[in-house]
Amino acid sequence: MKIAVIGTGYVGLVTAAGLAEFGHTVIGTDKDTAKIDLISRGSSPIYEPELDDLLKKNLAGGNLSFTSDVDAAIREAGVIFVCVGTPQDENGRADMSQIEGVARSIARNLNGYKVVVEKSTVPVKTSEWIKRVIGLYRRGDTPFDVASNPEFLREGSAVPDFLEPDRIIVGVETDRARDTLVKIYEKFRDRILVTNIDTAELIKHASNSFLALKISYINMIADLCDRTDADVEKVAQGMGLDPRIGRQFLKAGLGYGGSCFPKDIQALMKIGEDLGVDVGLLREADGVNRARTGLFLDKVKKALWILKNKRIAVLGLAFKPETDDIREASSIRIIRELVKEGATLRLYDPKAMENMKEIFPPSPQVDYCMEPYQAVQDANAILVVTEWEEFRALDLARVRELMANPIIVDGRNMFDPAPVRKLGFEYYSVGRK
Ligand code: NAD
Repeated sequence: MKIAVIGTGYVGLVTAAGLAEFGHTVIGTDKDTAKIDLISRGSSPIYEPELDDLLKKNLAGGNLSFTSDVDAAIREAGVIFVCVGTPQDENGRADMSQIEGVARSIARNLNGYKVVVEKSTVPVKTSEWIKRVIGLYRRGDTPFDVASNPEFLREGSAVPDFLEPDRIIVGVETDRARDTLVKIYEKFRDRILVTNIDTAELIKHASNSFLALKISYINMIADLCDRTDADVEKVAQGMGLDPRIGRQFLKAGLGYGGSCFPKDIQALMKIGEDLGVDVGLLREADGVNRARTGLFLDKVKKALWILKNKRIAVLGLAFKPETDDIREASSIRIIRELVKEGATLRLYDPKAMENMKEIFPPSPQVDYCMEPYQAVQDANAILVVTEWEEFRALDLARVRELMANPIIVDGRNMFDPAPVRKLGFEYYSVGRK
């Protein structure tokens, strides 16, 4: 059974390489030919730990290949994993045009029974639309099934997440589709939850929105801590010791970003509105998240008063550590505001600078640095925006020597306040004194 993976972005590339690693014959395809050229040579167009090695190993093994001929990949495969983007449209809904495009390609190339698997994050009821599109555009009545198999990998740990998943959700409406997917994930039989398709589609949006709620909840608590002597890190620790709550995702800071949580919570809000369900809870969580950048910039102004002509080092641009992804990253909003205020910025990120240059090209006001010590040289303040381990390991005594004014505004609570202050820094963080 040959598997085609359509869309070789953050999810599709890992899915293709991961399915090949499970022993299947996989052909990855994307309409972006430059991407396919790079991948075919064993080089990943994105930064994702362990992905280059996984790609090279499976390309060499012969059971993984890539083509920019999407139609041919569809014709060759019995199972098609759809991994294209479902970004937010201007109204907050998931833009399903990439999914529709793929459904039409599948219809045109339906040369025998195939299982079409939604791996992209899609609104509940999407499978109905995919079925309708394929039904409308296929020639004759070649049979097919649609199934939902949402992906839960996290950027930064996508490879281990895919290779050792804690659960696999399989939404199906026929035994044939169920048997196909269970066979693909045979080695994880004990972790497979089989549901109907609506349920599987909803599990993904419900999971991401719940995690977003958890982050916004601790950020709201951080706002309370900022106005009292409570310490949000200790509050989170104390809450997390309760196994019903758990410690994960109780990290106060600049809030959630990236290509998933912000758009998925918006999409679920729209789904709720369309179905006449009160989703005020999600709206509040979204509002708490949106407020983060402004509150952070208030702290920067509290430390520096006037930002015009101040030299500010921004450490971290990616939406989280261990990725080069800057989609919906807090850094973008922060940089935009600081530029508007007339500050001079010195940016550094271990992996995301090339992506950021497309939004903020290098200019006299926005300079990119080769390493963090260069960024902090003569700075009036450092802003910690992404919690890369590299920053935790900085020699802060050296940093202090290099800076014009020893001020750190830490949006991720990376550092312990006491030792940092002992080194002579003025130190601001989130929800703690
Ligand atoms: P991405 O934008 O990185 O990749 C999408 C790819 O699809 C692009 O390479 C694009 O060229 C390709 N594509 C678009 N239309 C095509 C077509 N008609 N034929 C062939 N290729 C086409 O997106 P991503 O981050 O990989 O996300 C994909 C989906 O997975 C989204 O629905 C997302 O919500 C979901 N998801 C993402 C993550 C994550 O961490 N990024 C995690 C879980 C789920």
